[in-house]
Amino acid sequence: MKAAVMQDINVLKVEDVPEPEVGPYDVKVKVDWTTICGSDPHILTGGLPVSPPPLIMGHEMSGTVVELGEKASFKGLSRGDRVTGYPVYYCGSCYYCRTGLEHCCLWAALPLPPGTMAEYVVWKEQQIYKVPENISPKAACLSEPVSVCVRGIDVSNIKPGSTVLIMGGGGIGLILLQLALRAGASRVAVSEPVAEKRKLAADLGAHFTIDPTSEDVWDHTMDITSNRGFDVVIEASGAKEAAQEAMSLVGKAGTIVYFAVYEMDFEIPIRPFELYYRDLTLKGVFMSPYTFPRAMALLEVLELEPLLSVTFPLDKVNEAFEAQLSGKYIKVLVESS
Ligand SMILES: [Zn+2]
Ligand SMILES: [Zn+2]
Repeated sequence: MKAAVMQDINVLKVEDVPEPEVGPYDVKVKVDWTTICGSDPHILTGGLPVSPPPLIMGHEMSGTVVELGEKASFKGLSRGDRVTGYPVYYCGSCYYCRTGLEHCCLWAALPLPPGTMAEYVVWKEQQIYKVPENISPKAACLSEPVSVCVRGIDVSNIKPGSTVLIMGGGGIGLILLQLALRAGASRVAVSEPVAEKRKLAADLGAHFTIDPTSEDVWDHTMDITSNRGFDVVIEASGAKEAAQEAMSLVGKAGTIVYFAVYEMDFEIPIRPFELYYRDLTLKGVFMSPYTFPRAMALLEVLELEPLLSVTFPLDKVNEAFEAQLSGKYIKVLVESS
């Protein structure tokens, strides 16, 4: 079968690889679409060393079940079902899995399940979820980013009436925006340099949009929050300036969620006295433990179609990555068939 294989750092090629075999607890999926994740270019450049190459790229997928292992019978899946899935398999037995921390699972990293930029993928039944009928195959790819955003909202301390700033209006930022509104935020601002993304943020319900390249985010913050700073700031742009600036935009007793993938050695100065005196909470978000069922329920509630920007065939996967890195698009899709 054809697959987009990361052969080495910054070397991504479409090549023929053996079709994966189906074990007793496995589900074989004919992949339709994969959306590129913000983390994928970091993996390709070596900035996020999840698994040594060769590695089939991609993890936000939708497709159709073509084969089931004889013991893959817990979820009532059948051949022909339209499905999506969670890219990591957890053991369910280690200390972390047994204490509500499956994303820290010792086994999950050994080795990562294969990626989905391929004609077929074989994942464990545990990872596979049936797609609701009225969700399109393209939108179904967003189940995984939605699941991570659900986790981001869970740790953000957003309460009914909270003020929220989302930095970055890409796919993640625009899903977070929709979830923050549904979590009860009363004033949500999105800062984003690309005009079309700001427009979409406003269409999706953002009360305020800010262009951080031409406007003063701090001035806007003071206007929007009556000089208090936001209750919650979610940094989802990955921009270094934004990661730094987030600290000055959050109000007393506020929470900053660092959602993006930053360069591994990127540092920002933190004054512990300020954490103490302003009673701040800093949170990171890694993976999406136990949130996938809620993400599946939210697929029917969220506006996902407007986030799907541009499509490429598998053969043009390198162009798809260039499109992703251009920053112009929200979600870039790769078609497997
Ligand atoms: Zn992802
Ligand atoms: Zn485990």
